Amino acid sequence: MKIAILSRNPKLYSTQRLVEAAKLRGHEVRVLDVLRCYMNITSHRPSIHYKGEDLAGFDAIIPRIGASVTFYGTAVLRQFEMMGVYPLNESVAISRSRDKLRACQLLSRKGIGLPITGFANKPDDINDLIKMVGGAPLVIKLLEGTQGIGVVLAETRKAAESVIESFLGMNISVLVQEFIAEAGGSDLRCFVVGGKVVAAMKRQGAEGEFRSNIHRGGSASLIRITPEERSTAVRAAKTMGLNVCGVDILRSNHGPVVMEVNSSPGLEGIEKATKKDIAGEIISFLEANVKPGKTQTKGAG
Ligand code: ADP
Repeated sequence: MKIAILSRNPKLYSTQRLVEAAKLRGHEVRVLDVLRCYMNITSHRPSIHYKGEDLAGFDAIIPRIGASVTFYGTAVLRQFEMMGVYPLNESVAISRSRDKLRACQLLSRKGIGLPITGFANKPDDINDLIKMVGGAPLVIKLLEGTQGIGVVLAETRKAAESVIESFLGMNISVLVQEFIAEAGGSDLRCFVVGGKVVAAMKRQGAEGEFRSNIHRGGSASLIRITPEERSTAVRAAKTMGLNVCGVDILRSNHGPVVMEVNSSPGLEGIEKATKKDIAGEIISFLEANVKPGKTQTKGAG
């Protein structure tokens, strides 16, 4: 196969591992900087140019699109889809998962466990919004934060009220969420490839930190997940339409709740914690599924 990896940085661990795994299996692979791709959007013959070259002949594309370039990145991916190139994750699925509110709504529609979540633009009654999610302590999240930035724990009703008020006052939309205290600053990262959890790890936040993100000083360890957690992760991936993703789950008193479905999950933490060849699993998935024009949505709807 001829595989393209959309990644802004060929030196990243995840990108390097995917290149390595593809080459090991005898594939041709090329890393493309998504921001250097430009498109010709005419009828019948969509094309993509890269530094003056007309890109053609790819069988598969692995999008590793950072949150800050979601808009342009998914447009480029959509163009590849229109050209019949098979995407590891489809552009529509990536867009769904990037919008935290849309993702919560889709997951709730399928009855998947979620922390009680409220969303507001300019509520007349912030107190009612707070009451709706069970009162303080509660978590307030910016819609487009990553790596734990923009996630605030408000311990009292007064604190919650003033933080929500300031964000909304600056026209910044926020999610207000029940705080799952019993998770104890840890969460589960379930790595799904092709409808199966191929690896799972537990992430524990640094001492006194409720956020478990590795970027915030958290640490990862191997864990056995329960059948209920496994099926929650698989259903969440399916609901988003993602072939490959990281499903973040909190262990709550009312069962597993999904916090986020990440469409470009990092490989370093999970491969090191579990000693598994996840990059290899991803390339095998492509080998089993690539067919020209097999994309379900081709960027539509
Ligand atoms: P990001 O996408 O920025 O990583 P998350 O929504 O995943 O944001 O939150 C970051 C971390 O904060 C999570 O990994 C988790 O440890 C903690 N966290 C988030 N939401 C809750 C919640 N409702 N209850 C308890 N802990 C939470």
